[in-house]
Amino acid sequence: MISRLEGSFKYIAEFSSHVAHELKTPLAIIKGETEVAMRKERNIEEYKILNRANLEEVERMLKIINDLLLLTSLDYRPEVFKFERFDLVEFLKDIYEQSKVLASQKDIAVILDMPDDGGHINGDKFHLRRLFFNLIDNAIKFTPKNGKIDIILKKKDKKAMISISDTGIGMPDECLPKIFNRFYRVDRMDKNIEHGSGLGLNIVQSIVKMHHGAIQATSHLNKGSTFIVTIPLL
Ligand code: ADP
Repeated sequence: MISRLEGSFKYIAEFSSHVAHELKTPLAIIKGETEVAMRKERNIEEYKILNRANLEEVERMLKIINDLLLLTSLDYRPEVFKFERFDLVEFLKDIYEQSKVLASQKDIAVILDMPDDGGHINGDKFHLRRLFFNLIDNAIKFTPKNGKIDIILKKKDKKAMISISDTGIGMPDECLPKIFNRFYRVDRMDKNIEHGSGLGLNIVQSIVKMHHGAIQATSHLNKGSTFIVTIPLL
């Protein structure tokens, strides 16, 4: 009991320090930029540039806060899930259509492969959409121009297996066990690679759990990654 409590305190301490650190960086940037701007009179154009840069940092902080609020509700307020029976084929067709639009900005092709009868699940469409778009947004983010994303649905042992594969930059093997951890980001040599808050896959995992499902990731550096979500069929 005591060691469990100690574990929880340690977790809270680490979590608070993580959140503080994540919010400190954008705030320090806003402070620094504003101080520099105030050192002398600036023209309108310069103020506009400063405002735009500050807005970007504010948006980054808002995203972190919204993701954290979402995680709290996913983990501690099960009533936010509204389960209903629905057809997976119809659901994935919608996701595919929207993914094509998002991916077209980088000339990435999106392919959908499903059986005619994909089966039905008991799920929360709103949160499952969030789950798949987190995976698809990552696939787009980490895949260079002219790449490809496959969305594949298979049925196996009364389970639906939905995989999202990309032909992107991949991840080193040693990172795979950590990618679902809160705030974890793969450290990239190429500093031009845009990175987020490291909360996206943790959100994915929480939504999968609420559906009594599982998620698996495989990846090869410079070749691509595959995420397979398994959800029980009705
Ligand atoms: P973020 O919001 O920072 O992208 P995520 O939790 O979604 O955080 O992902 C964690 C890490 O896993 C990211 O830093 C990224 O490097 C890696 N990752 C996730 N999806 C992919 C992918 N499809 N291809 C390559 N790396 C990925």
